[in-house]
Amino acid sequence: MSRADDICPRIDDTPKTATQPAAAAIYPATVWACDSPEQADQLLAGEQAGYVYQRNGHPNADLFTDKAKQLHGADHALATSTGMAALSVAMLSQLKAGSQLVISDQLYGQSSQLLAVEAERLGVHCRTANLYDLKSAEAAISPGADLVVVETIANPLLRVADIRALSKLTHTAGGKLLVDNTFATPILCQPLSLGADLVMESVSKLMNGHSDAMLGLLCGSGEAWNRVERVAVVWGFTSSPFDCYLASRGLVTLPLRCERANHNARAIAQHLSDSAKVAKVIYPGLANHPDHELANQQFKGQFGAMISFNLPDREAVDRFIANCQPIRFCPSLGEAPTTVSHPATTSHRSLSKKAREQLGVCDGTVRVSIGIESADGIREAIDRGLAAT
Ligand SMILES: *Cc1c(COP(=O)(O)O)cnc(C)c1O
Repeated sequence: MSRADDICPRIDDTPKTATQPAAAAIYPATVWACDSPEQADQLLAGEQAGYVYQRNGHPNADLFTDKAKQLHGADHALATSTGMAALSVAMLSQLKAGSQLVISDQLYGQSSQLLAVEAERLGVHCRTANLYDLKSAEAAISPGADLVVVETIANPLLRVADIRALSKLTHTAGGKLLVDNTFATPILCQPLSLGADLVMESVSKLMNGHSDAMLGLLCGSGEAWNRVERVAVVWGFTSSPFDCYLASRGLVTLPLRCERANHNARAIAQHLSDSAKVAKVIYPGLANHPDHELANQQFKGQFGAMISFNLPDREAVDRFIANCQPIRFCPSLGEAPTTVSHPATTSHRSLSKKAREQLGVCDGTVRVSIGIESADGIREAIDRGLAAT
Protein backbone atom coordinates (compact mmCIF):
# COMPACT_ATOMS: atom_id res chain seq x y z
CA MET A 1 0.00 0.00 0.00
CA SER A 2 1.26 3.51 -0.80
CA ARG A 3 2.29 5.71 2.08
CA ALA A 4 0.13 8.77 2.73
CA ASP A 5 3.30 10.80 3.18
CA ASP A 6 4.25 10.01 -0.42
CA ILE A 7 0.79 10.44 -1.93
CA CYS A 8 -0.28 13.73 -0.41
CA PRO A 9 2.61 16.08 -1.28
CA ARG A 10 2.23 15.66 -5.05
CA ILE A 11 -0.24 17.92 -6.84
CA ASP A 12 -2.04 15.94 -9.53
CA ASP A 13 -2.12 17.12 -13.11
CA THR A 14 -5.41 18.37 -14.53
CA PRO A 15 -7.30 15.31 -15.81
CA LYS A 16 -6.85 14.78 -19.56
CA THR A 17 -10.26 14.69 -21.18
CA ALA A 18 -11.57 14.21 -24.70
CA THR A 19 -13.61 17.41 -24.37
CA GLN A 20 -12.50 20.97 -23.78
CA PRO A 21 -13.81 23.14 -20.93
CA ALA A 22 -15.94 26.09 -22.05
CA ALA A 23 -14.40 28.36 -19.40
CA ALA A 24 -10.76 29.21 -18.79
CA ALA A 25 -8.86 27.46 -16.00
CA ILE A 26 -7.14 29.33 -13.19
CA TYR A 27 -3.45 28.50 -12.86
CA PRO A 28 -2.34 29.40 -9.35
CA ALA A 29 1.00 27.57 -9.81
CA THR A 30 3.91 29.68 -8.60
CA VAL A 31 6.38 27.41 -10.36
CA TRP A 32 6.37 25.09 -13.35
CA ALA A 33 8.33 21.85 -13.66
CA CYS A 34 10.89 22.03 -16.46
CA ASP A 35 12.24 19.11 -18.51
CA SER A 36 15.87 19.95 -17.89
CA PRO A 37 18.20 22.70 -16.69
CA GLU A 38 18.78 23.54 -20.35
CA GLN A 39 15.08 24.11 -20.93
CA ALA A 40 14.78 26.25 -17.78
CA ASP A 41 17.71 28.32 -19.02
CA GLN A 42 16.04 28.86 -22.41
CA LEU A 43 12.67 29.66 -20.88
CA LEU A 44 14.14 32.20 -18.47
CA ALA A 45 16.14 33.78 -21.29
CA GLY A 46 12.94 34.12 -23.31
CA GLU A 47 14.36 31.90 -26.07
CA GLN A 48 11.57 29.39 -25.62
CA ALA A 49 7.93 30.26 -24.93
CA GLY A 50 6.59 28.87 -21.66
CA TYR A 51 6.27 29.42 -17.95
CA VAL A 52 8.78 28.93 -15.15
CA TYR A 53 7.95 31.20 -12.23
CA GLN A 54 4.69 33.09 -11.74
CA ARG A 55 6.28 36.52 -11.21
CA ASN A 56 7.82 36.22 -14.69
CA GLY A 57 4.55 35.29 -16.37
CA HIS A 58 1.54 32.98 -16.15
CA PRO A 59 -1.27 31.74 -18.41
CA ASN A 60 -4.03 33.84 -16.83
CA ALA A 61 -2.04 37.03 -17.46
CA ASP A 62 -1.50 35.95 -21.08
CA LEU A 63 -5.18 35.16 -21.56
CA PHE A 64 -6.01 38.65 -20.34
CA THR A 65 -3.25 40.56 -22.12
CA ASP A 66 -3.87 38.83 -25.48
CA LYS A 67 -7.32 40.44 -25.52
CA ALA A 68 -6.08 43.73 -24.09
CA LYS A 69 -3.49 43.95 -26.88
CA GLN A 70 -6.18 43.53 -29.51
CA LEU A 71 -8.48 46.03 -27.83
CA HIS A 72 -5.72 48.65 -27.75
CA GLY A 73 -4.13 47.75 -31.09
CA ALA A 74 -0.85 47.32 -29.18
CA ASP A 75 2.21 45.20 -29.92
CA HIS A 76 2.74 44.55 -26.22
CA ALA A 77 0.64 44.37 -23.07
CA LEU A 78 1.47 43.72 -19.45
CA ALA A 79 -0.87 42.90 -16.56
CA THR A 80 0.18 44.41 -13.23
CA SER A 81 -1.04 43.93 -9.66
CA THR A 82 -2.91 47.28 -9.66
CA GLY A 83 -3.39 50.34 -11.83
CA MET A 84 -0.81 52.12 -9.65
CA ALA A 85 1.66 49.30 -10.39
CA ALA A 86 1.15 49.90 -14.14
CA LEU A 87 1.93 53.58 -13.59
CA SER A 88 4.97 52.68 -11.46
CA VAL A 89 6.27 50.40 -14.23
CA ALA A 90 5.79 53.18 -16.77
CA MET A 91 7.62 55.65 -14.54
CA LEU A 92 10.52 53.35 -13.67
CA SER A 93 10.97 52.09 -17.24
CA GLN A 94 11.02 55.57 -18.82
CA LEU A 95 12.75 57.75 -16.23
CA LYS A 96 15.94 57.97 -14.22
CA ALA A 97 17.46 60.57 -11.90
CA GLY A 98 17.63 63.86 -13.78
CA SER A 99 14.78 62.99 -16.18
CA GLN A 100 12.10 65.58 -16.96
CA LEU A 101 8.51 64.59 -16.25
CA VAL A 102 5.44 66.66 -17.16
CA ILE A 103 2.11 65.67 -15.61
CA SER A 104 -1.45 66.88 -15.86
CA ASP A 105 -2.70 69.00 -12.95
CA GLN A 106 -5.88 66.89 -12.93
CA LEU A 107 -4.41 63.41 -12.43
CA TYR A 108 -5.95 60.82 -10.12
CA GLY A 109 -4.76 61.83 -6.61
CA GLN A 110 -2.41 58.93 -6.00
CA SER A 111 -0.98 59.19 -9.52
CA SER A 112 0.10 62.74 -8.80
CA GLN A 113 1.52 61.63 -5.44
CA LEU A 114 3.54 58.93 -7.19
CA LEU A 115 4.80 61.19 -9.98
CA ALA A 116 5.19 64.51 -8.19
CA VAL A 117 6.31 63.30 -4.74
CA GLU A 118 7.79 59.79 -5.00
CA ALA A 119 9.46 60.31 -8.40
CA GLU A 120 10.94 63.59 -7.14
CA ARG A 121 12.51 61.68 -4.25
CA LEU A 122 14.29 59.55 -6.86
CA GLY A 123 15.70 62.66 -8.55
CA VAL A 124 13.15 63.07 -11.34
CA HIS A 125 12.16 66.69 -12.10
CA CYS A 126 8.39 66.94 -12.30
CA ARG A 127 6.36 69.85 -13.72
CA THR A 128 2.59 70.05 -13.38
CA ALA A 129 0.46 71.81 -15.98
CA ASN A 130 -3.03 72.01 -17.40
CA LEU A 131 -2.56 69.64 -20.34
CA TYR A 132 -6.18 70.11 -21.43
CA ASP A 133 -5.22 73.57 -22.64
CA LEU A 134 -2.81 73.19 -25.56
CA LYS A 135 -1.11 76.54 -24.94
CA SER A 136 -0.20 75.68 -21.36
CA ALA A 137 0.65 72.12 -22.47
CA GLU A 138 3.09 73.46 -25.03
CA ALA A 139 4.67 75.83 -22.51
CA ALA A 140 5.24 72.92 -20.10
CA ILE A 141 6.37 70.29 -22.63
CA SER A 142 8.49 72.18 -25.17
CA PRO A 143 11.40 73.04 -22.80
CA GLY A 144 12.06 69.26 -22.71
CA ALA A 145 10.15 66.24 -21.44
CA ASP A 146 11.17 62.60 -21.21
CA LEU A 147 7.70 61.52 -20.19
CA VAL A 148 4.33 63.29 -20.31
CA VAL A 149 1.39 61.82 -18.38
CA VAL A 150 -2.25 62.72 -19.00
CA GLU A 151 -5.65 61.09 -18.50
CA THR A 152 -7.91 60.66 -21.54
CA ILE A 153 -10.82 61.90 -19.44
CA ALA A 154 -9.97 63.65 -16.15
CA ASN A 155 -11.82 63.38 -12.87
CA PRO A 156 -14.17 65.02 -11.98
CA LEU A 157 -14.37 67.84 -14.56
CA LEU A 158 -14.22 65.29 -17.38
CA ARG A 159 -11.81 67.35 -19.45
CA VAL A 160 -10.79 65.44 -22.59
CA ALA A 161 -7.14 65.25 -23.67
CA ASP A 162 -6.29 65.99 -27.30
CA ILE A 163 -4.08 62.92 -27.58
CA ARG A 164 -2.96 63.53 -31.16
CA ALA A 165 -1.84 67.09 -30.37
CA LEU A 166 -0.15 66.07 -27.09
CA SER A 167 1.70 63.22 -28.87
CA LYS A 168 3.09 65.69 -31.41
CA LEU A 169 4.19 68.16 -28.72
CA THR A 170 5.79 65.37 -26.69
CA HIS A 171 7.60 63.80 -29.63
CA THR A 172 8.92 67.18 -30.75
CA ALA A 173 10.32 67.61 -27.23
CA GLY A 174 11.98 64.17 -27.54
CA GLY A 175 9.75 62.41 -25.00
CA LYS A 176 7.13 59.70 -24.69
CA LEU A 177 3.43 60.16 -23.99
CA LEU A 178 1.72 57.95 -21.41
CA VAL A 179 -2.08 58.09 -21.35
CA ASP A 180 -4.14 56.87 -18.39
CA ASN A 181 -7.23 55.64 -20.21
CA THR A 182 -9.15 54.38 -17.15
CA PHE A 183 -12.21 56.64 -17.58
CA ALA A 184 -12.45 55.92 -21.31
CA THR A 185 -11.53 52.20 -21.73
CA PRO A 186 -10.36 50.96 -25.16
CA ILE A 187 -14.01 50.91 -26.25
CA LEU A 188 -14.10 54.72 -26.22
CA CYS A 189 -10.48 55.47 -27.04
CA GLN A 190 -7.32 53.74 -28.22
CA PRO A 191 -4.59 56.27 -27.41
CA LEU A 192 -1.82 54.30 -29.19
CA SER A 193 -3.63 54.77 -32.51
CA LEU A 194 -3.61 58.55 -31.84
CA GLY A 195 0.16 58.64 -31.30
CA ALA A 196 0.63 57.84 -27.60
CA ASP A 197 3.60 55.59 -26.74
CA LEU A 198 2.13 53.90 -23.68
CA VAL A 199 -1.39 53.50 -22.34
CA MET A 200 -2.43 52.31 -18.90
CA GLU A 201 -5.74 51.26 -17.44
CA SER A 202 -6.85 50.66 -13.89
CA VAL A 203 -8.58 47.38 -14.77
CA SER A 204 -10.04 47.52 -11.24
CA LYS A 205 -12.56 50.04 -12.64
CA LEU A 206 -14.54 49.84 -15.89
CA MET A 207 -12.54 47.18 -17.70
CA ASN A 208 -13.29 44.52 -15.12
CA GLY A 209 -16.48 46.28 -14.11
CA HIS A 210 -17.56 44.02 -11.26
CA SER A 211 -15.72 45.58 -8.26
CA ASP A 212 -14.00 42.30 -7.44
CA ALA A 213 -10.51 42.39 -8.97
CA MET A 214 -7.49 44.67 -8.45
CA LEU A 215 -5.50 44.80 -11.66
CA GLY A 216 -3.59 47.17 -13.92
CA LEU A 217 -2.73 47.12 -17.58
CA LEU A 218 0.10 48.74 -19.50
CA CYS A 219 0.15 48.56 -23.31
CA GLY A 220 2.63 49.95 -25.78
CA SER A 221 4.48 49.65 -29.01
CA GLY A 222 7.96 50.52 -30.17
CA GLU A 223 10.97 51.68 -28.23
CA ALA A 224 9.01 52.79 -25.15
CA TRP A 225 8.48 49.10 -24.37
CA ASN A 226 12.19 48.22 -24.13
CA ARG A 227 12.55 48.13 -20.34
CA VAL A 228 8.91 47.58 -19.38
CA GLU A 229 8.78 43.82 -18.82
CA ARG A 230 12.12 43.68 -17.06
CA VAL A 231 11.07 46.48 -14.67
CA ALA A 232 7.76 44.76 -13.89
CA VAL A 233 9.46 41.45 -13.09
CA VAL A 234 12.42 42.72 -11.05
CA TRP A 235 10.46 45.31 -9.05
CA GLY A 236 7.72 42.72 -8.56
CA PHE A 237 4.72 44.58 -10.00
CA THR A 238 3.23 41.52 -11.67
CA SER A 239 -0.34 40.27 -11.48
CA SER A 240 -2.21 37.53 -9.65
CA PRO A 241 -3.75 34.68 -11.69
CA PHE A 242 -7.08 34.95 -9.93
CA ASP A 243 -7.48 38.66 -10.64
CA CYS A 244 -6.46 38.12 -14.28
CA TYR A 245 -9.05 35.35 -14.47
CA LEU A 246 -11.78 37.62 -13.10
CA ALA A 247 -10.74 40.49 -15.38
CA SER A 248 -10.83 38.19 -18.42
CA ARG A 249 -14.38 37.39 -17.42
CA GLY A 250 -15.11 41.09 -17.05
CA LEU A 251 -13.91 41.66 -20.61
CA VAL A 252 -16.59 39.31 -21.91
CA THR A 253 -19.19 42.01 -21.37
CA LEU A 254 -17.01 45.14 -21.71
CA PRO A 255 -18.42 46.36 -25.05
CA LEU A 256 -22.00 45.69 -23.95
CA ARG A 257 -21.52 47.36 -20.58
CA CYS A 258 -19.91 50.40 -22.20
CA GLU A 259 -22.61 50.69 -24.82
CA ARG A 260 -25.39 50.60 -22.24
CA ALA A 261 -23.62 52.90 -19.76
CA ASN A 262 -22.80 55.43 -22.50
CA HIS A 263 -26.38 55.41 -23.67
CA ASN A 264 -27.69 55.81 -20.11
CA ALA A 265 -25.20 58.58 -19.32
CA ARG A 266 -26.41 60.68 -22.23
CA ALA A 267 -30.00 60.38 -21.10
CA ILE A 268 -29.13 61.15 -17.46
CA ALA A 269 -26.91 64.13 -18.36
CA GLN A 270 -29.81 65.63 -20.27
CA HIS A 271 -32.20 64.87 -17.43
CA LEU A 272 -29.91 66.56 -14.89
CA SER A 273 -29.55 69.57 -17.20
CA ASP A 274 -33.33 69.93 -17.20
CA SER A 275 -33.54 69.94 -13.39
CA ALA A 276 -33.91 73.26 -11.59
CA LYS A 277 -32.17 71.72 -8.54
CA VAL A 278 -28.87 71.25 -10.35
CA ALA A 279 -26.62 74.29 -10.79
CA LYS A 280 -24.30 72.84 -13.44
CA VAL A 281 -23.91 69.55 -15.30
CA ILE A 282 -20.51 68.46 -16.57
CA TYR A 283 -20.60 65.84 -19.33
CA PRO A 284 -18.52 65.81 -22.53
CA GLY A 285 -21.65 64.83 -24.46
CA LEU A 286 -23.33 68.16 -23.65
CA ALA A 287 -22.75 71.00 -26.11
CA ASN A 288 -21.73 73.35 -23.24
CA HIS A 289 -18.75 71.17 -22.22
CA PRO A 290 -15.43 72.85 -23.18
CA ASP A 291 -14.22 69.66 -24.93
CA HIS A 292 -17.49 68.62 -26.55
CA GLU A 293 -16.23 68.90 -30.14
CA LEU A 294 -12.93 67.15 -29.40
CA ALA A 295 -14.71 64.34 -27.54
CA ASN A 296 -17.21 63.91 -30.34
CA GLN A 297 -14.46 63.52 -32.89
CA GLN A 298 -11.91 61.59 -30.80
CA PHE A 299 -14.41 59.15 -29.29
CA LYS A 300 -16.50 58.84 -32.46
CA GLY A 301 -19.79 59.97 -30.97
CA GLN A 302 -19.48 58.29 -27.55
CA PHE A 303 -18.92 60.34 -24.40
CA GLY A 304 -18.32 57.92 -21.55
CA ALA A 305 -20.21 56.88 -18.44
CA MET A 306 -19.11 59.59 -16.01
CA ILE A 307 -21.17 62.68 -15.18
CA SER A 308 -20.45 65.38 -12.62
CA PHE A 309 -22.90 67.98 -11.40
CA ASN A 310 -23.02 70.75 -8.86
CA LEU A 311 -25.49 71.01 -6.03
CA PRO A 312 -25.58 74.26 -4.02
CA ASP A 313 -23.53 73.01 -1.03
CA ARG A 314 -22.30 70.09 1.05
CA GLU A 315 -25.60 69.77 2.94
CA ALA A 316 -27.45 69.28 -0.36
CA VAL A 317 -24.87 66.62 -1.32
CA ASP A 318 -25.42 64.77 1.97
CA ARG A 319 -29.19 64.81 1.46
CA PHE A 320 -28.84 63.70 -2.16
CA ILE A 321 -26.60 60.77 -1.21
CA ALA A 322 -28.82 59.74 1.70
CA ASN A 323 -31.89 59.59 -0.56
CA CYS A 324 -30.83 58.37 -4.01
CA GLN A 325 -31.28 54.64 -3.26
CA PRO A 326 -30.56 52.15 -4.68
CA ILE A 327 -27.59 54.13 -6.01
CA ARG A 328 -24.78 53.67 -3.52
CA PHE A 329 -22.07 56.06 -2.44
CA CYS A 330 -18.82 54.37 -3.55
CA PRO A 331 -15.62 56.34 -3.94
CA SER A 332 -14.64 54.42 -7.09
CA LEU A 333 -16.14 54.04 -10.55
CA GLY A 334 -17.00 51.74 -13.37
CA GLU A 335 -19.08 49.16 -11.52
CA ALA A 336 -22.05 47.48 -13.19
CA PRO A 337 -24.57 49.43 -11.07
CA THR A 338 -24.61 53.23 -10.97
CA THR A 339 -22.59 54.68 -8.07
CA VAL A 340 -22.13 58.18 -6.75
CA SER A 341 -19.01 59.82 -5.35
CA HIS A 342 -18.14 63.12 -3.70
CA PRO A 343 -14.74 64.37 -4.92
CA ALA A 344 -14.17 66.95 -2.15
CA THR A 345 -14.19 64.27 0.59
CA THR A 346 -12.69 61.39 -1.43
CA SER A 347 -10.54 61.70 -4.58
CA HIS A 348 -9.67 65.37 -3.98
CA ARG A 349 -9.49 65.39 -0.17
CA SER A 350 -5.71 65.90 -0.10
CA LEU A 351 -6.07 69.27 -1.87
CA SER A 352 -6.86 72.45 0.06
CA LYS A 353 -10.34 73.90 -0.45
CA LYS A 354 -8.75 76.75 -2.39
CA ALA A 355 -6.81 74.39 -4.69
CA ARG A 356 -10.00 72.39 -5.28
CA GLU A 357 -11.96 75.49 -6.12
CA GLN A 358 -9.25 76.65 -8.52
CA LEU A 359 -9.71 73.35 -10.36
CA GLY A 360 -13.49 73.79 -10.29
CA VAL A 361 -14.28 71.14 -7.67
CA CYS A 362 -16.75 72.60 -5.17
CA ASP A 363 -18.13 71.13 -1.94
CA GLY A 364 -21.37 70.67 -3.87
CA THR A 365 -19.79 68.71 -6.75
CA VAL A 366 -21.12 65.18 -7.15
CA ARG A 367 -19.75 62.60 -9.58
CA VAL A 368 -21.87 59.77 -10.87
CA SER A 369 -20.53 56.63 -12.52
CA ILE A 370 -23.44 55.56 -14.67
CA GLY A 371 -24.13 51.83 -14.75
CA ILE A 372 -26.00 49.34 -16.85
CA GLU A 373 -29.44 49.45 -15.21
CA SER A 374 -32.39 50.85 -17.12
CA ALA A 375 -32.18 54.59 -17.76
CA ASP A 376 -35.60 54.94 -16.12
CA GLY A 377 -34.42 53.23 -12.95
CA ILE A 378 -31.39 55.52 -12.69
CA ARG A 379 -33.51 58.60 -13.41
CA GLU A 380 -35.99 57.70 -10.65
CA ALA A 381 -33.20 57.18 -8.11
CA ILE A 382 -31.59 60.50 -9.04
CA ASP A 383 -34.95 62.24 -8.77
CA ARG A 384 -35.43 60.80 -5.25
CA GLY A 385 -32.04 62.22 -4.32
CA LEU A 386 -32.70 65.61 -5.91
CA ALA A 387 -36.15 65.91 -4.31
CA ALA A 388 -34.47 65.71 -0.89
CA THR A 389 -31.84 68.41 -1.54
C1 LIG B 1 -8.24 53.97 -9.80
C2 LIG B 1 -7.39 54.73 -10.72
C3 LIG B 1 -6.00 54.52 -10.76
C4 LIG B 1 -5.30 53.53 -9.87
O1 LIG B 1 -5.70 52.23 -10.12
P1 LIG B 1 -5.72 51.07 -8.99
O2 LIG B 1 -6.17 49.89 -9.76
O3 LIG B 1 -6.67 51.52 -7.92
O4 LIG B 1 -4.33 50.97 -8.49
C5 LIG B 1 -5.26 55.25 -11.66
N1 LIG B 1 -5.84 56.15 -12.48
C6 LIG B 1 -7.16 56.39 -12.47
C7 LIG B 1 -7.74 57.39 -13.39
C8 LIG B 1 -7.98 55.69 -11.58
O5 LIG B 1 -9.29 55.95 -11.55
